[in-house]
Amino acid sequence: DQLGHTKTNPFADPANLTQVYAIVSGKGGVGKSTVTANIAASLATEGLSVGIVDADVHGFSIPGLLNITQPPTKLEDMILPPVVEVPASRRVAAGRDDVPGSIRVISIGMFLEDNRPIAWRGPMLHRALEQFLTDVHFGDLDVLLLDLPPGTGDIAISMSQLVPNAGLVVVTTPQPAAVNVAERAGTMSLQTGQKVVGVVENMAAMVMPDGTRMEMFGSGGGAMLSERLGQALDTETPLLGSVPLDSALREGGDTGVPVVWSAPDSPSARALSDVADGI
Ligand code: ADP
Repeated sequence: DQLGHTKTNPFADPANLTQVYAIVSGKGGVGKSTVTANIAASLATEGLSVGIVDADVHGFSIPGLLNITQPPTKLEDMILPPVVEVPASRRVAAGRDDVPGSIRVISIGMFLEDNRPIAWRGPMLHRALEQFLTDVHFGDLDVLLLDLPPGTGDIAISMSQLVPNAGLVVVTTPQPAAVNVAERAGTMSLQTGQKVVGVVENMAAMVMPDGTRMEMFGSGGGAMLSERLGQALDTETPLLGSVPLDSALREGGDTGVPVVWSAPDSPSARALSDVADGI
């Protein structure tokens, strides 16, 4: 066949060179998808070929965050995902004008009608995730990011079976209560044998125009989670970045242009670029 694709999950092959990361969180609304979209945009700006599997069935949001309106297409029995190119101005600014980085996205939202709510059980989610990995022609990716539903449920176990080499990036807010649930998402790796690559603290203190710091969600959660996971897993689980609350980030998400592209010098964009560099 034209694509030279054998219907297997290429990401389960230990010889596959794509680096796979699952962006996980204990609970919803902590910015997991926003962090995923911005890591992808930042890596693509560096000239990398990036893929995103958005299997957050209850909160799929990657297409909106990257302003993807075109549906996937079919070629033979494979699904071709829509592609987001790095804006030319960002490529030039990053000195990577020569290397066209890109983001290929497949989202569970692309296969639903009328934005209807879905009550899927574990086995259906497992099957959907498996299909995304086997039936979608991503081509040769440098990096694949998985945006999965929050928590430690069935899908996390499925993911560990389907992509055993995926490294976990755990997202939390600075709040102690959020850290406890995020810790459980991270220590799942003890059962699944996956590696926690690091921690991202999101919605951290915002610097106000008068220079004072506004700690809407408290402080210290990222460092606390990094330390606790390090002890529980007996390995280095560094704090990859602390992303402040930032209206530029929220606006970027709403307009479908990730903040690392729309406002690269903003505090949140700088923190997110550091996260991308650190994984
Ligand atoms: P999750 O994927 O964990 O459910 P989202 O990425 O969808 O979370 O983010 C939840 C909401 O919070 C979105 O509206 C997003 O724009 C907003 N948000 C996330 N991080 C920040 C931040 N650092 N500053 C401002 N708004 C943020």
